[in-house]
Amino acid sequence: MRTIAVLNQKGGVGKTTTAVNTAAALAAAGLKVAVIDLDPQAHLTIHLGLEPDTIESGSYKVLTQSAEFEKEIMLVRPNLWILPANINLVGAESELVSVVGRETILREAIQKVGDKFDYSLIDCAPSLGLLTLNALAAADEILIPLQPHFLALQGFGKLLQTVDLVNKRINPNLKVKGILLCMFDSRASLPNEVKADIEQFLDSARGTNCAWSQARILPVYIRRNIKLAEAPSYGKTIFEYEQNCHGAEDYKKVAEFIHTQSSQPSPQPDTQPSATGQNLI
Ligand code: ADP
Ligand code: MG
Repeated sequence: MRTIAVLNQKGGVGKTTTAVNTAAALAAAGLKVAVIDLDPQAHLTIHLGLEPDTIESGSYKVLTQSAEFEKEIMLVRPNLWILPANINLVGAESELVSVVGRETILREAIQKVGDKFDYSLIDCAPSLGLLTLNALAAADEILIPLQPHFLALQGFGKLLQTVDLVNKRINPNLKVKGILLCMFDSRASLPNEVKADIEQFLDSARGTNCAWSQARILPVYIRRNIKLAEAPSYGKTIFEYEQNCHGAEDYKKVAEFIHTQSSQPSPQPDTQPSATGQNLI
């Protein structure tokens, strides 16, 4: 199983849209996919047509170790399972304060079912708290959706440094693999400037052993598309809501890109010191 955390501590950048629709495209291609809702707002759960108020357990119970991942995960579409969230998840962070090993509960829970799925995608909350730490400890890689506007890079360095710390202390497998530009408008000049800034920053880490030394901007962008914004309120993926739109085309390409990558061996980092990211913001 390949576990991908969809992460950005900012809200409204396209995390949930990316998690749902990439997972749906992978599932439609015949792969077994689990999506995990680690955001108390439960947008992923709602997007897949479930009502959080009727969810008795889900990710909250798995994190508080009162239920098994395998029992809580629900089949919601062919090949697509969800570990749903509800508002109880807000309390998980404080309830776990005195639990030893609280950062690795999710990792241990999903390792037990590792062979059942080809992919698991974790939709993170817009914070870098304990819930997100659990996602980072469980993940093999990170996909960062980013909206290329003028504040896009604010906090980006901190995000990468957090990932690097988790990589060094808790999860040596963890790598930032991709930056996905969401709500992209290629006619505006700013997105291209933001893109150039990110590329310059990522280049500064090439050949180091930091967790983002292999990161790249995905060659596929998600164009701004109203259908993507409408689909969640119908509890539908973009492929169910409108097969033939830019949003469906783009997320299908993202899934293809991710899946193609998994069949390529990743290059080995050399042993230079980690990049600090201090030249960014
Ligand atoms: P996050 O999970 O990071 O908070 P969302 O995926 O929920 O972000 O996206 C934020 C809002 O933008 C949602 O209303 C979503 O439907 C909308 N949205 C996401 N991607 C696009 C897009 N490419 N074009 C238009 N609207 C989008
Ligand atoms: Mg979200």
